[in-house]
Order: sequence, then structure tokens, then C-alpha cells
Amino acid sequence: MSNKVHLGHTARKRFGQNFLTDSNIINRIVGAIAPDNDHVMVEIGPGLAALTEPVAEGIDKLTVIELDRDLVERLQQHPLLKDKLEIHQGDALRFDFNQLLQEGKKLKVFGNLPYNISTPLMFHLFTFAEHIANMHFMLQKEVVLRLSAAPGSKAYGRLTVMAQYYCQVVPVLEVPPESFTPPPKVDSAVVRLVPYAQKPWQCHDIKLLEQVTSTAFNMRRKTLRNNLKQLFSDNDFAALGIDPTLRPEQISVSQYVALANCLYGKQG
Ligand code: SAM
Repeated sequence: MSNKVHLGHTARKRFGQNFLTDSNIINRIVGAIAPDNDHVMVEIGPGLAALTEPVAEGIDKLTVIELDRDLVERLQQHPLLKDKLEIHQGDALRFDFNQLLQEGKKLKVFGNLPYNISTPLMFHLFTFAEHIANMHFMLQKEVVLRLSAAPGSKAYGRLTVMAQYYCQVVPVLEVPPESFTPPPKVDSAVVRLVPYAQKPWQCHDIKLLEQVTSTAFNMRRKTLRNNLKQLFSDNDFAALGIDPTLRPEQISVSQYVALANCLYGKQG
């Protein structure tokens, strides 16, 4: 059966379209999202409304951001949804989430994300973290493992440090390819990201944390001393109590924040 016959829409690869069709998985994701009227509910990439319909069912209003104009048109005509949806046609990567803020309400953001843009999209959303209560995303399972990794593991990297700086990361469930039409080539998983109201570690300049992590993880097999020699001396490492002979995956988020803040001090 072709995708078109099955869905009434030809899935577009360039928009990362893999539509959820497994009602059991859909119910579990909606249960995790826990839709309510006390938050501004926002879906990224509603597609054919697999999550949109059950989420909208129990609430008054749902904001959606969808890039594909054909799908936007379908949503505008959807008999059950059209009165509840606030539809923004466009690229979620460029979307200003501040425009959705309402007095006294934080955002709950969710979506079965197009996998090709999921990492930059999460980085974009982290810049709005103080206004977000939580996020639930379907991602490649490998990305969920990276988000939730502990120091010392292979999956621990730049994305881990940046995500865990902003958010508590909770893997929710694993989803096999057969739960989608068309099936993606990789395993998937749902993750919950809960931005900290009070961050455990305060970084003075987030750009420096980005710089330190991307430089540190540039060559995973090299030591911190080697990767970061342009930024830190052995004295800096000693002052922070960080062993410079360790590899980049062997130090904690708080140690990365300490390095970024040390750089901030050095740059005056
Ligand atoms: N939510 C639907 C589901 O679970 O069946 C569709 C998920 S599909 C993996 C990703 C959706 O995101 C598609 O509807 C696609 O058109 C949309 N999309 C792709 N790139 C986007 C972007 N940059 N901004 C907003 N939506 C995008």
C-alpha cells in the first residue's frame, strides 16, 4: 500500500515526514504530555494530526507550527480542530516562541519532530527555556540516549551538556519504526525535557559554554588539555580541580560550567 493511499497525503522526505499511526503509542504520548488549559499548549509539526486531535480533545486551544502548506490547509479545514487551533505556517527553527506567551502561563511544547532539524530546534527552544514548563519530543533513539547520557559514557557529548544545563532530561518511551507511516530507518524514543526553574549551575555567558563544549568534544579521543589548550592553561585546570588528562566525556556538566565561567573571568 502506498503512503498516499493510506494517508491521503504523500509523505515528504525533505520535511522529515513520518506519521504516527500506532494508537497505543499515541495514547501513551498524550498521557505523558498531560494537556491542560493552565499552559499555552504548542505542537511543532502537527502533520496529519495524529497527536493534535487527542491533545486538542481535552483543551480549549492548541497552537501549532507547521512548515508544509498542504498540511496547514488540511488543518484549517479539519472539522473537529479548526475552531481550536491557532495555526502558524512556517519554520519552527525561526519561530519566536515569546509571541505565544500569556500572562501567568508557561508553554508546554511537544512534537514528533522532523529528525533532520531536531538538534538545532532543541537549541533554539533552550533560548526560551525560562518560559517553558516542559517539552515532550519524539526523536531518534540515539539522540535521546545522548540527551540523557551520564559522564563517562559514549553517548555523553556537547548535546548532553547543553541540554542538561537547561533541563532535567527524562526518557519516556521507546518507539519502533512500525509505529509510523512511512517507517523511519532508525529506532525512535520520546523524551521529556523539563527546564530548571532554578538552574543547579549558573553560567555567566551561555556562548562560552557552547564554545567550551564544542571545542572540548571536537576530538573525543584527545585529552581536555589537548583540545582546550588555546583556552585554558594547566594552572586554570588546577585552580578548578579538573584533571586535564581526562577525555572530554569524563567531566560533569558542572565542571563544564566552571570552565565556561573561568573563561568569562579571563576575558574580563
Ligand atoms: N505530528 C505528526 C505525527 O506525529 O504523525 C507529524 C510528524 S512528522 C515526523 C514531522 C512534521 O513536522 C511534519 O508534519 C512536517 O511537515 C513538519 N515540519 C518539518 N519541518 C518543519 C519545520 N522546520 N517547522 C515546522 N514543522 C516542520
